[in-house]
Amino acid sequence: MSKERLYLFDTTLRDGAQTNGVDFTLEDKVVVAEMLDKLGIDYVEGGYPGANPTDDAFFDTKRTNRAVFTAFGMTKRAGVSLSNDPGLRALIDARSDAICFVAKTWDYHVRVALGISEEENLRSISESVAAACAAGKEVLLDCEHFFDGYKANPDYALACAKAAYDAGARWVVLCDTNGGTLPEEVETIVSEVGKVIPGDHIGIHAHNDTEQAVANSLAAVRAGARQVQGTLNGIGERCGNANLTSLIPTLLLKPAYADRFEIGVDEDRLAGLSNLSHRFDELVNRASNRQAPYVGASAFTTKAGIHASAILKDPRTYEHVPPEKVGNRRHVLVSDQAGKANLLAELGRLGIAVARDDHRLDSLLREVKQREGRGYSYEGAAASFELLARRTLGEVPAYFDVRQFDVNVEHRINALKERVTVSLAVVKVRVGDEELISAAEGNGPVNALDQALRKDLGVYRDAIADLELVDYKVRILNGGTGAVTRVLIESTDASGDSWFTVGVSENIVDASFEALTDAIVYKLVRDGVPATTM
Ligand SMILES: [Zn+2]
Repeated sequence: MSKERLYLFDTTLRDGAQTNGVDFTLEDKVVVAEMLDKLGIDYVEGGYPGANPTDDAFFDTKRTNRAVFTAFGMTKRAGVSLSNDPGLRALIDARSDAICFVAKTWDYHVRVALGISEEENLRSISESVAAACAAGKEVLLDCEHFFDGYKANPDYALACAKAAYDAGARWVVLCDTNGGTLPEEVETIVSEVGKVIPGDHIGIHAHNDTEQAVANSLAAVRAGARQVQGTLNGIGERCGNANLTSLIPTLLLKPAYADRFEIGVDEDRLAGLSNLSHRFDELVNRASNRQAPYVGASAFTTKAGIHASAILKDPRTYEHVPPEKVGNRRHVLVSDQAGKANLLAELGRLGIAVARDDHRLDSLLREVKQREGRGYSYEGAAASFELLARRTLGEVPAYFDVRQFDVNVEHRINALKERVTVSLAVVKVRVGDEELISAAEGNGPVNALDQALRKDLGVYRDAIADLELVDYKVRILNGGTGAVTRVLIESTDASGDSWFTVGVSENIVDASFEALTDAIVYKLVRDGVPATTM
């Protein structure tokens, strides 16, 4: 039985750009379009030509190879002729393959927000779609507020969709603009629309305001829709859009969909999905959601000892899909509850072979428990755990030795009569036969220390050039006089990977320093950098 084709439409660069705190530059847009194109997305919606200089420049050139490059904009304004509408002109002139028009399909919005008659709105839809088709574009119509409009006046909402389809639109996209529709309603309404417009011309555009955007998209597919719109990592206004990063693996790995449908993403590309999701977060400068389905750092993480030992025997006992299918990995937390089973499972995942009766396993377990008693937490700091394990097994080269450091915090009034605080750090490191001294300023003691330490690590300087500290968290444990500080640092580099390291001390600078050096050593070990002889 041949499979039906399901099309994926990405609106990260258009609807996703409405996300609070996200602001794409032209360069960002070029990178994201390329990521989506390579992933196998069928349509990449790039923005709104005619609306701002960034989008104008973005639509100067076609930005995709494989995907249909799509421009977004309004249908023709009522009361002006086609040739006198500059918005429509900009859309037609853009170097896109397709135009996605947005039009109101809720009679109440047509009357109140647009202040035009229902007939005028229908005419504007037909004329705009026909004009874009005549200009050689593939045309889509986003039916804004379709589900709410359908509930208020089904005949009018359907008439709008039908007007676009009859005028030559390839796709009529049903939008749950307010995101309040539930899956059962979506399924019923899409089935009704399917009686008037063939399903392979119907798309779904769901927002996530009741956390149903993915479920609503799947409901629409079950009801016959054959185009799914969404964004990377589900970004978007308010609670976001349907999350393509969750939808893609579901469509490819769950038999209910995988057996029936074919999408543009293949298994090879799917295996790069976790990395793509994290690279995208990096690009928009957001911390990755650890609990994101399929791609989150915790998506295949197990804590309790009993689960861990079962996972070790057969991963299928606690996993709904194999993590490597989406480029993620199994992770068994090393915690107070850890037994030997946890530890073995975790070492296995790290590719460290140790026999169950190896005595070093007992000393590592003792060491982990002892450190956890002192405030270390390896649950959130897998890189530090890996270093500890490899050190116990004698697998970590002695890269460098920090002999001394000095941090100075100065609060003063500068020449502009402003109060400023400046930190200066000096680090003395031994690398091989060399003794290196570097100094650096920073906006705080830890920042200055980080800068100074990385400034000159001699032969390793190039190897850590792309290392970047992305997050720094401090926790004070136990309160009172016995207080200790735990510092957790997230680092990343050009590979897009990120890793977490931990440091614990009564002194915040010491704790930070420990986590910083772990971050550097972890990168050197992971990249297989050889140590210079000391
Ligand atoms: Zn939307």
